[in-house]
Amino acid sequence: MVLAELGGSISRALQQMSNATIIDEKVLNDCLNEITRALLQSDVQFKLVRDMQTNIKKIVNLDDLAAGHNKRKIIQQAIFNELCKMLDPGKPSFTPKKSKPSVVMFVGLQGSGKTTTCTKYAYYHQKKGWKPALVCADTFRAGAFDQLKQNATKAKIPFYGSYMESDPVKIAVEGVERFKKENCDLIIVDTSGRHKQEVALFEEMRQVSEATKPDLVIFVMDSSIGQAAFDQAQAFKQSVAVGAVIVTKMDGHAKGGGALSAVAATKSPIIFIGTGEHMDEFEVFDVKPFVSRLLGMGDLSGFMDKIHEVVPMDQQPELLQKLSEGTFTMRIMYDQFQNILKMGPINQVFSMLPGFSSELMPKGREKESQAKIKRYMTMMDSMTNEGLLNFKGEKWAGHNWIGLLSVIFGMGQNRTNPKLMNESRMMRIARGAGRQLREVVEMFEEYKRLAKIWSKMKGLKIPKKGDMSAL
Ligand code: GDP
Repeated sequence: MVLAELGGSISRALQQMSNATIIDEKVLNDCLNEITRALLQSDVQFKLVRDMQTNIKKIVNLDDLAAGHNKRKIIQQAIFNELCKMLDPGKPSFTPKKSKPSVVMFVGLQGSGKTTTCTKYAYYHQKKGWKPALVCADTFRAGAFDQLKQNATKAKIPFYGSYMESDPVKIAVEGVERFKKENCDLIIVDTSGRHKQEVALFEEMRQVSEATKPDLVIFVMDSSIGQAAFDQAQAFKQSVAVGAVIVTKMDGHAKGGGALSAVAATKSPIIFIGTGEHMDEFEVFDVKPFVSRLLGMGDLSGFMDKIHEVVPMDQQPELLQKLSEGTFTMRIMYDQFQNILKMGPINQVFSMLPGFSSELMPKGREKESQAKIKRYMTMMDSMTNEGLLNFKGEKWAGHNWIGLLSVIFGMGQNRTNPKLMNESRMMRIARGAGRQLREVVEMFEEYKRLAKIWSKMKGLKIPKKGDMSAL
C-alpha cells in the first residue's frame, strides 16, 4: 500500500518518543527529524516538509507546557494536524448536484489511470442514483475510445465518442449537448493524456474546457509520480481550472508522497483514491481518517460506515442498541463476523482499525488474511460446541469495541478467565475444528496482542465522521 512505509516510519518515531522517560527538546527534535526524513524519503516536497517542521515546533513549546500536561499527546496531535493541513487546501471542491446537469472534465498524463478513473467515478455515482454519461474526447491515443466504450458498456453507462472525428473539441461539445438533452445529470468528459507535459496537450485541454465549460476539472495523478508531482500538477492548474485531484494506484508500492504535493500545487482537495484496476476499487478520500490510518491510529468512523454498508438493515438497530448497552453475546459477534467477511477488500477494513497499519496486512496477502479469519471462525464454531460462545446476556463492561474488534479478528473474546483456556480445552477446540493446537494458540496469542492495543482505548466513543478527538 502506498505510503505504508511512511506511516510505519512516523508511527515508529512517535513510539520512540513515547518510550522516552522525559520529553525534552532533544527527544522532540529527534522525533521531528525522523519524521522529516521519512516524509522526504516518500517524495513529499521539501518545502512542505520544512514548513511542517517549523509549524510543529511553533505549536509545541515544551517550556510552555505546564507540568502534568500530556506532552506526547500534544505532540502527536500537532503532527496529526500538520499532516492534515498538508492534505487539506482549506476549501472543498465543487460537488455536483442532481438538480442541475454537471459537466466534469478529467485531465492528466497518459497512463495515470484517467480513463479507468472516469468510469469508476461514473459507476460510483450511478450506484448512488445518478444518471451519469461518458464522453471520450481523447482522440490522441489509439484505442482510447474502445477502452472507454468497453468499460462503459460493462457498467451500463451511456457513452459518446467517434472513430472518425479527430477534433476533440467537437466530440466533447457534441457529447455534452447530447447527454444534456437526454437528461443525464453527470456528464464526464475524458480528455487526451500525453507522455509528458507538452504544449499541444495543454492547448487542447484548454480548448475543450473553454468549449464545454465544465463545472469541475479533475486532475488524475498516479501515486508513483515522485518529486515531479508538484511541478506537473502546477502546470495543469495553470492551463485549466483544476478543482479536485484523484490519486490512482494507491494499491501499489509507490512511495506516494508526491501525491501529497499535488494538493499544495493545485490548491485543490483529493476527492477520491483509486485502489485497484476494478470498477469498484475506488474510495472517497477524507483527510482526517486517511492521516489517522497513516499514523496507525485507525479510522473508526470509516469502520462504522462499513458496518452500515454490510450489516443487513434489519439487524442494524439491534446491533447498535446492544453495542450501546454494552451487551454483546458471542453469538451476535459471530454473526457480525460473517457480515464482516462480506465487507470486501479486507485490507481496507483492517487499515481502519487502530494498531493495524496496512503494513501488517499488505495487499497480495488478502486471501491469506481472509482464510485466517475463516479458520478462526471454524475454531469459534468449535468453541460453540464447547459452550464457550454461549454467554447470553453477558456484559462487555465498557469494552464493546474491544470485544467486537477482537472477534472481527477471530479471537472471540469472552469474559471467560483466560486461564480457563488451558491446554486440554484448547486441544478440544483444535480437535473440534480439525485444526492444530498451535493454530488455536496462535489465535489466542493474536487475541492477547489486540486486546492489549484495545485496552488502551477503553471507554472509546465511536467518533463521528472526521472527528478524531476520541483518538
Ligand atoms: P490513462 O492513459 O490515463 O487513461 O490510463 P488508463 O485508464 O488506461 O490506465 C492505465 C493503467 O493503469 C491501466 O492498466 C489501468 O488498469 C491501471 N489503473 C488505473 N487505475 C488504477 C488503480 O487505482 N490501481 C491499479 N493497480 N491500476 C490502475
